[in-house]
Amino acid sequence: MSIADNLARLHEQIAQACRQSNRSESEVALMAVSKVHPVEVILEAYAAGQRLFGENRVQEFQEKSQHLGGLTDANFHLIGPLQSNKTNKAAELFDAIDAVDSLKIAQRLNAAATALGKKLPVLVEVKLSYEESKHGLAPEELPELLAAIDHLESVEAVGLMTVPPWSLDAETARPYFKELRRLRDESQKTHPALTQLSMGMSNDFVVGIEEGSTCVRVGTALFGKREYPA
Ligand SMILES: *Cc1c(COP(=O)(O)O)cnc(C)c1O
Repeated sequence: MSIADNLARLHEQIAQACRQSNRSESEVALMAVSKVHPVEVILEAYAAGQRLFGENRVQEFQEKSQHLGGLTDANFHLIGPLQSNKTNKAAELFDAIDAVDSLKIAQRLNAAATALGKKLPVLVEVKLSYEESKHGLAPEELPELLAAIDHLESVEAVGLMTVPPWSLDAETARPYFKELRRLRDESQKTHPALTQLSMGMSNDFVVGIEEGSTCVRVGTALFGKREYPA
């Protein structure tokens, strides 16, 4: 299967999930998660019409970005955890930061974006499970972080994202997706810009769409298995 074939199949699956949950396909963006794969897969997906991409490491994307100069209408989001010493680079390289989980990071991104004369949309990553290794903000801390981000001139919180515990069974993710949506709906009352819900990956994006996702982040089902260097 080529990347173009996989894209076509994913669009069909997304369309079907939208029909089944009475949603419009235009409400759900497909993000191509190209982390670990070589830059060629980005170029191939772009040639097949894909415009929204997710990368999870600043350093890795910095190298790839040197070969992506021609793709002026493509959008690249950082979807992985961000260390504070990488915020300047991240603000420069990415169109949006989708995994902000502290005020310190938001403030540093704001300073960098202001210096660049750039507006940076961000998603707040919420941690809804109690696994030790997961990144993300505790849900109780969300109101305070959103209120603080409101005061930043160059960073705007436009939604929430979460990564549920990994499972082969897509249904395992459903309660986490429901909870993220509830938090978004609640927060949106006081933060109207908070419209987006980034949830659902290769094995559970249909459940994500059923629960209100506006962006599914798909790597494996589009580009195949990731071969991590030893
Ligand atoms: C790697 C990654 C994905 C894509 O996962 P697949 O299971 O390969 O689709 C989505 N979201 C985040 C945050 C990731 O790090």
